[in-house]
Amino acid sequence: DFEREIKVVVVGNGGVGKTSMIKRFCKGVFTDDYKKTIGVDFLEKQLYVPSIGQDVQLYLWDTAGQEEFDSITKTYYRGAGAAVLAFSTTDRASFDALPSWRSKVLEQCPGIAMALVQNKVDLIEQAVVSSQEAEAMARRLGLKFYRTCVKQDLNVTEVFTYLAELHDRK
Ligand code: GDP
Repeated sequence: DFEREIKVVVVGNGGVGKTSMIKRFCKGVFTDDYKKTIGVDFLEKQLYVPSIGQDVQLYLWDTAGQEEFDSITKTYYRGAGAAVLAFSTTDRASFDALPSWRSKVLEQCPGIAMALVQNKVDLIEQAVVSSQEAEAMARRLGLKFYRTCVKQDLNVTEVFTYLAELHDRK
């Protein structure tokens, strides 16, 4: 019974771990050998959300490398109810690009549920963004902030659970 379905877009600069995050969350049921050439694509995942008291069907859309060309199509955003705004611990440009990513998403999807995600926290020794800066960015953007390590499966499910809850409250 999938009464609740949410399209989730995962945005941020190339290399921050978007594809990896989607694959991780969906437990490797997907092989992405062809994805980068196909354009947009998505994976689905059923998630039990305690605060809602039922399963939510999530459709996770990957930009499939389109961000390299600043050419994400309207189709990618169409109907999205939630967004992960991701940057990498080791990529300053991906952090600096966050406000513009947020604007792009809101332009296409006003009122969308969104969360800020700092991925690759296993590489904290090589961090190019301080924790104070990251927290200040979250406040500035008005977003809940998560630190994830997709590699070690840290906090990934929490991000999507939060988005499903936030979407439900809207
Ligand atoms: P995308 O371009 O945003 O989709 O990024 P990818 O998912 O292709 O990931 C870019 C690179 O970062 C790949 O080599 C991943 O293996 C790596 N990566 C993703 N998540 C993590 C993480 O949590 N820690 C580390 N160390 N590497 C990661």
